[in-house]
Amino acid sequence: MFKFLVALLIFVLLFDVSNAQELQTDSGATECTASNTEQGWWRESQPIMGTVVAVEVRSEGRASACSAIAAVMTEMKRIDALMTTWSPDSELSRLNREAPKRYVPIEAELFDLIDRSLDFSRMTAGAFDVTYASAGRFYDFRQGIRPDDAELEKAVNAIDYRYLLLDRKHKAIRYRHPEVFVDLGGIAKGYAVDRSIEILEAHGVSEAMVSAGGDSRIVGDRGGEPWVVGVRDPRVRGANVALLPLMDVSVSTSGDYERFFEDNGTRYHHIIDPTTGDSARGVRSVTILGADALMTDALSTSVFVMGLEEGIALIDALNGVDAIVVDGEGRLHVSRDLLDMNNTVATMEGR
Ligand code: ADP
Ligand code: MG
Repeated sequence: MFKFLVALLIFVLLFDVSNAQELQTDSGATECTASNTEQGWWRESQPIMGTVVAVEVRSEGRASACSAIAAVMTEMKRIDALMTTWSPDSELSRLNREAPKRYVPIEAELFDLIDRSLDFSRMTAGAFDVTYASAGRFYDFRQGIRPDDAELEKAVNAIDYRYLLLDRKHKAIRYRHPEVFVDLGGIAKGYAVDRSIEILEAHGVSEAMVSAGGDSRIVGDRGGEPWVVGVRDPRVRGANVALLPLMDVSVSTSGDYERFFEDNGTRYHHIIDPTTGDSARGVRSVTILGADALMTDALSTSVFVMGLEEGIALIDALNGVDAIVVDGEGRLHVSRDLLDMNNTVATMEGR
């Protein structure tokens, strides 16, 4: 934690840099299929989990780099196949079909992730709720489809994480409401990134970055320098509102600009307020920094739903977690620890 906070000292100095890449990987990394012995960095990206998965590692040779990266891609695909709601064949789809009727024993890994998601529901007073999808499933952001009022009213009644009954002994779950639908889109990518890092470490990799869409985790640094991760401007494509020099940390961003459509001037996007079944409005993006990606993923979605004040208060109450929020007017806000850093920088500049 300390390490990345130190790195963040310069973040405010870099504030308002536009036209930078979301991820600065300009130090000569090569595709896994190519070799670059000079730099020793290897990179590959693939479309998985409805997003782009990118893996970049430092490794002595091409063969070891490629086998480590391939193992990560395989793992990502495995987790996706288990947890997607896009396919009727996934374990989660089976749960969604059968759990309204009876306790359904499921694979321990899926059970445990749902169990973890409930920790975040309790921590956020229900802002994070995987049953959001009871209403969320009626939206199609690509096609601009949303539920009508009657549909939405009915669906909202089925949003409540307390409808999930967990039998820990048998790793079985039952839904206590017939219309409940679970989707893990707010936590599964973070989980998959954490698993990927474990796999890389088992392959002997000690410097790496793995990202799945807006969820990234960095191990070590980048050849003695911090990685530079951009916080995107939610309204200007290709621009950043901040650049974060980071090492040994996870970073997740949730924004209203990823998947959305507009109808009569109202923006409908994929982060749903469980109390209304409607898109959460109030902030434009939330970036969370913390030790693991499962947590930063869940908390970025949570803080987005909670809004600026409540959200920052939650983050300030947690140890080793920080937030950067772009509010509804495009203003930047940071959690207390980062604010202290900014003040330190301001003081240093003022001398
Ligand atoms: P992404 O990286 O996919 O943009 P986010 O971390 O921003 O993901 O989370 C958005 C996803 O989380 C949505 O696509 C949906 O699957 C899920 N989600 C939306 N609202 C909630 C909520 N209130 N609680 C838990 N998960 C949610
Ligand atoms: Mg998230």
